[in-house]
Amino acid sequence: MPFAELEFPIHETFQSTVQGEGFWVGSLVDFIRLAGCPVGCPWCDTGYSDGGKHTPREMRSLSELLKEIESPRVVISGGEPFIHRHLPDLVRAILDLGKQVSIETSGAFWQDVAPETWITLSPKQHVNANFPVQVAFWERANEIKLVISTGKELDYYQDYLNIASDRPIFLQPEWHERDRTIPIIANMLRQKHSYRLSLQTHKYIGVA
Ligand code: SF4
Repeated sequence: MPFAELEFPIHETFQSTVQGEGFWVGSLVDFIRLAGCPVGCPWCDTGYSDGGKHTPREMRSLSELLKEIESPRVVISGGEPFIHRHLPDLVRAILDLGKQVSIETSGAFWQDVAPETWITLSPKQHVNANFPVQVAFWERANEIKLVISTGKELDYYQDYLNIASDRPIFLQPEWHERDRTIPIIANMLRQKHSYRLSLQTHKYIGVA
């Protein structure tokens, strides 16, 4: 199949919006949301707590996806982007347009992507041990984003967080429980001075 005709299952794309969380918060970005994730986090806010049965998707070609890009950075999210074997091709094609690329991943599926790609690792191994983080991601990730629900997450990942301590580590409250989890995070920040709070600001300001 010619490169431009590669197809990807897409939930949705949106252009010229604001990155709401993590290191690039506040920057103008496009989103490409790839469909599919087997991890099954019960609080998944992208429709995969039940495997995505009710989550819309359509097949779209690489050339279509490239044509609609507007922003200087494209965030590839999901679902879980790394389950798609042509992810490295999608990344390379966007970089070749002169754009920057970020990928958000649970880290459960490894593939090599271009080294200039920004990787946000948001591990879910503590939620479903059947999908452990591929160890290489702890070295490769540019930032770590831990979703805090119970307050036990730091202990669970501490050895790996030590590996990643030269990169930004964000603690993000589980959205539906934020009144309970933000105080837990405030307490964690008193113990871990280099860690930072990440709020899902796009939900506070009502942008996609
Ligand atoms: S890994 Fe991410 S996309 Fe998959 S179920 Fe968990 S929160 Fe949802």
